Amino acid sequence: MADRDEYLTVPEVAQLLRVHRATVWRWIVAGKLPAVRLGDRTLRVRGDDVAGLLRPAATTKRASGVPRQPPAAAPEFGSCWAVLSATGGRGAGMYPPRFDYAVAASLDEAVEQLARYGDDAKVLAGGQSLIPLMKLRFAQPARLVDINRLTDLRYLHEEAEGLRVGALCRHRDVERSEWLRARYPTLAACAPQVADPLVRNLGTLAGSLCHADPQGDWGAVAVALEAQLVARSARGQRTLPATGFFLGPLTTALRPDELVTEVRFPAPKGHAFGTYLKLERKVGDFATVGVAVFVDLQDGRVTRAGIGLAAVGPTYVKARAAESLLVGNALTDALVTEAAIKAAEEADPASDHRGSAHYKRQVVRVFVGRALRQAMAAHAA
Ligand SMILES: Cc1cc2nc3c(=O)[nH]c(=O)nc-3n(C[C@H](O)[C@H](O)[C@H](O)COP(=O)(O)OP(=O)(O)OC[C@H]3O[C@@H](n4cnc5c(N)ncnc54)[C@H](O)[C@@H]3O)c2cc1C
Repeated sequence: MADRDEYLTVPEVAQLLRVHRATVWRWIVAGKLPAVRLGDRTLRVRGDDVAGLLRPAATTKRASGVPRQPPAAAPEFGSCWAVLSATGGRGAGMYPPRFDYAVAASLDEAVEQLARYGDDAKVLAGGQSLIPLMKLRFAQPARLVDINRLTDLRYLHEEAEGLRVGALCRHRDVERSEWLRARYPTLAACAPQVADPLVRNLGTLAGSLCHADPQGDWGAVAVALEAQLVARSARGQRTLPATGFFLGPLTTALRPDELVTEVRFPAPKGHAFGTYLKLERKVGDFATVGVAVFVDLQDGRVTRAGIGLAAVGPTYVKARAAESLLVGNALTDALVTEAAIKAAEEADPASDHRGSAHYKRQVVRVFVGRALRQAMAAHAA
């Protein structure tokens, strides 16, 4: 049992509450859980603040009015067992807090709004992550800048350097693109596995990257393929590599006044193969483990390799050591086995309700091996 005055690390809080480490980070980022850096510079939270996120069982009721059953070995604070309120505690409801709403008529107007309101403003694209966060009071922006009228940003096309995905390209646009399957198979494999059709109709690929949920699917694809994000602000434009974009759960290198206008994926060279394998508890669920794999093969040798992992770390993992094993070599069974083991070692999963860390590591190993063997078979055919 944690003492209320004790300071706990993020993994300790996650273990205590039996939630994912990313969830704890979310609370910290959203200001729900105050965190401090102590002597060794490790981020810690006070036991008392953790207790503040919990409610005594007696006051927590199901919709039917039946009190919840205490979970086995539930975390204890004092003498009462407690469960985490679905709303994050402290009176949040199904409605988001009040906010101002502006519909941008042009890109310039959108970035002008972001420049004016800075940290208080949030871009609204498909709303499939932002609105739920607001309902849970994990995000409380004072102003939403709706970019849905900027229809010029809804595109998906290829140029010499590669694929360009506009900020308003929905998941379903990627899913339905026939030509994309041959040229960008990792994206084509990922799109139908994101959420469910309702979410895919509205949610955007760029929004998913900006949201930076480590369990999201597109982030793994972006780091595997070394995508670039084009960010626009009133100060100008810059390009950010996906490999440096994700700083932590729900945290990116994007500045508050910046809007991502486009995501770019480099063109494949030679014989390209790619896929996205996802383990989910049920259709439409977030990933227990997601693995994005891509290889370019020329004369039987790997010229480029990309392996991105979702849901096995505080942010997306690029399995660089496994990638390096592949580049310059022919894909053999032994090499694939070695690379799969290496990728599993590079994963940093946490045990949670979706599975133990050990189990998730094994899933990474199996999925990377499976994807690379599919590449071998496709190349041989
Ligand atoms: C029921 C449900 C199931 C889901 N399942 C999955 C799943 O299985 N896999 C998965 O990956 N995701 C899943 N999601 C999450 C969702 O698919 C994406 O995170 C979502 O689509 C994000 O895109 P959006 O356009 O809706 O972004 P929004 O919700 O509009 O925005 C998300 C965040 O990104 C910012 N943002 C959006 N666009 C931009 C931009 N162009 N520039 C700068 N900032 C921007 C917003 O300000 C906000 O902070 C699920 C969501 C729901 C509701």
